Amino acid sequence: MFEETMSNDLYFLRWSINKTYILFGASETIVKFRNAFDFEIDLKCIVDNSKEKQNKYFGSLKVNDPSYLNSIKNECQIIITAPSIKAQIQIKEQLESMGFIEGQNFTTYTKLMMVWKWYTDRSIAVNYTEVMITSKCNLKCQNCGLYIPCYENQEHRTIESINRDLDSYFKVIDYVSEFRLLGGEPLIYPEIVDLITIIGEKYRAKIGEFVIVTNGIAAAKCDLITVMKKFNVVFHISDYSNTLPQIRKSIGKLIIRSEEAGITYKRNSSNKWLDLGSPFNSRKLSKKQLIEKFNRCKMPCRSLYNQKMFYCGPLSSAVMARIYSSVRNDYFDLSEAQYMSKEEKFNSLLNFELGNTQMGYITFCDFCNGFGCDNTFYVEPGVQIEM
Ligand code: SF4
Ligand code: SF4
Repeated sequence: MFEETMSNDLYFLRWSINKTYILFGASETIVKFRNAFDFEIDLKCIVDNSKEKQNKYFGSLKVNDPSYLNSIKNECQIIITAPSIKAQIQIKEQLESMGFIEGQNFTTYTKLMMVWKWYTDRSIAVNYTEVMITSKCNLKCQNCGLYIPCYENQEHRTIESINRDLDSYFKVIDYVSEFRLLGGEPLIYPEIVDLITIIGEKYRAKIGEFVIVTNGIAAAKCDLITVMKKFNVVFHISDYSNTLPQIRKSIGKLIIRSEEAGITYKRNSSNKWLDLGSPFNSRKLSKKQLIEKFNRCKMPCRSLYNQKMFYCGPLSSAVMARIYSSVRNDYFDLSEAQYMSKEEKFNSLLNFELGNTQMGYITFCDFCNGFGCDNTFYVEPGVQIEM
């Protein structure tokens, strides 16, 4: 678990923007982190545990072996830029075993981004947020991490309700590094073009990377491609064609279409999924076990639904499916936030982002196996439920 006891003012002094930094983790997070600021950060280099990345360049920065840190001990401070909490926790343990102290010698990019944004221009920034715009999907995956097959009524959300959520979200949030539209399958959402236009016109300047997450089966129509290009929207394609070879052709078509139109895409093809288990069964964990489980998981992406920022997607989807009732501990209430001062909003959002909830965990952690290293249940991706 990351200790977050230092006051934000003291933290800012220690981690001022004028110091020299080393980044731990050569990932795309670095690009997002740097794009969040309009000032230059003095970066010495990157370190990474992967031998394949070492001695190469990430932009203009050389990637070194972490043992390099021993030679520069007090000259620079370290920012952990690994994207997942699991990797961040491993790096934290590694740094501590090398004699570095959290808060003094190293910190995470998530906290630094929020604090720097706040102290440089009083703006409130968050890392990732996603919106499920539909619970309808063209697949029925057995181990869907958003429990789509468990919905009694799969439906498209109304554009008005999504709009309401967007308005209350961007009243509080000045900048989000990555904003994702997903489902179910967002490409079958009938008003996807209108929705992207609304977000593009009203909020594009507040978004770093604007993403559509798709399984790549539905075709991208011309007007969608046009509006994606206009507002620089990218595809993240979850490719399950190793399990489902029949969808390979459609994914190929989407990729060709994106390349021809100059739309950036990422194709994610994993050979295993973590099994989150049944959302219907309480694991009957004690408070101590729930806190441990939550600290191992701490999903980095918040999920916007019903004017609330839910801590994670599985929770918000279970609420949307009406199979779970969340409590005030589990979300940041955007409609309540309108009555807070900007400083109160920042402080309470920073705490929420860092996982400092009232209960020390999310109540749904008792119904979910989580993404932490304690979850050792893996399944094949994209296996379909027999009709
Ligand atoms: S394609 Fe994605 S959203 Fe649809 S059922 Fe499979 S995992 Fe869930
Ligand atoms: S409910 Fe808890 S364990 Fe599951 S994904 Fe969310 S934070 Fe992680």
